[in-house]
Amino acid sequence: MEPNHIYQFSLLNALMDGVSETGIPVSKLLTKGNQGLGTFARMNGELLLLDGKVYQLQAEGNVREAGPDEQIPFAVSTQFEAQRSVDVALKSKDTIDEALDAFNDHAKNLFMTYRIHGKLEYLKCRTVRGQSYKGEPLSDLGKKQSVEEYHDVVGTIIGFRTPKHNQGYGVAGEHLHYIADDRSAGGHVLEVKAKEVQMQMAVASNLHIELPTTEDFNAASLVTDDEGVKKVEG
Ligand SMILES: [Zn+2]
Repeated sequence: MEPNHIYQFSLLNALMDGVSETGIPVSKLLTKGNQGLGTFARMNGELLLLDGKVYQLQAEGNVREAGPDEQIPFAVSTQFEAQRSVDVALKSKDTIDEALDAFNDHAKNLFMTYRIHGKLEYLKCRTVRGQSYKGEPLSDLGKKQSVEEYHDVVGTIIGFRTPKHNQGYGVAGEHLHYIADDRSAGGHVLEVKAKEVQMQMAVASNLHIELPTTEDFNAASLVTDDEGVKKVEG
């Protein structure tokens, strides 16, 4: 992967339609960059790729390292090389947006990637519990997600920001995942507060999308469900 190019397997819309039986193996995703996020087969937990390892962030905030053959039905990743690094106080998730806007005022219609590291005073994370039947839509899984709160933890948040008008097709989205430095906890970030953390960021203008060639993907409606996405992705 060239630096700051984005690789994505499948579409968020397909995930919303419940397409998550198979995908690419973890070993392949590991060749697609040094940071990324996504989910596992049957949407069992959240995925986080960080510096050569793929982690499964499970319900109740537990973390395990994924094996090379595990299937990834949806992932977005990049070979992240910071173009700017700033120290920021995070009042809320909105501060992340403001920092991205301040870095590059032409980024409105570009993809942005970032990595935040440091002490987080408050974190609220969710993890999807997984489908209870094949094809169960992500919007239904959102109703039984596990939500955890953390105080005064040290860890890394990685994220992707999609241009507002490109969100419909299910590319990248507005997405950030957290993992503790000691790998004791992790999840999809719903809320965050920090007095001072380091935030590294980069603009991404190249996108590689690989689509599943399965029957399930072919049968998916891929209708854009902005409301549904907003509900599960926070
Ligand atoms: Zn997520």
